[in-house]
Amino acid sequence: MTPEQIAQARQRLLQMRQELLDEAAHAYAESQSLGKDGVPDIGDMSSNSYNQEVLINLSNAQRRAANDIDAALERIAAGVYGICARCEEEIAPRRMEVRPFSRYCVDCKTDVEKYGE
Ligand SMILES: [Zn+2]
Repeated sequence: MTPEQIAQARQRLLQMRQELLDEAAHAYAESQSLGKDGVPDIGDMSSNSYNQEVLINLSNAQRRAANDIDAALERIAAGVYGICARCEEEIAPRRMEVRPFSRYCVDCKTDVEKYGE
């Protein structure tokens, strides 16, 4: 992938992550009766502990997605984004566009699903 494609993918991943956090924060606000207006007072919480707290409200599927996104962001940081974690071939850019958090090329994904990692 070109640096531009990777930069774009990074933006999308960050956006997807933010959307998940927003959903979780919304669920968190609804599950709590904090503050008189029903909005939790997060002013004195570090964003880290707040994130951890709201992430508890994610469904399993959402949490898995958040993990996938974080792992993809780590691969970008490590410079191995878009490289199959199994055969180390470049993953088709089209596939990365559809699923920017893909870890495997299509062939390996099929194998992993059949035989495990
Ligand atoms: Zn592969």
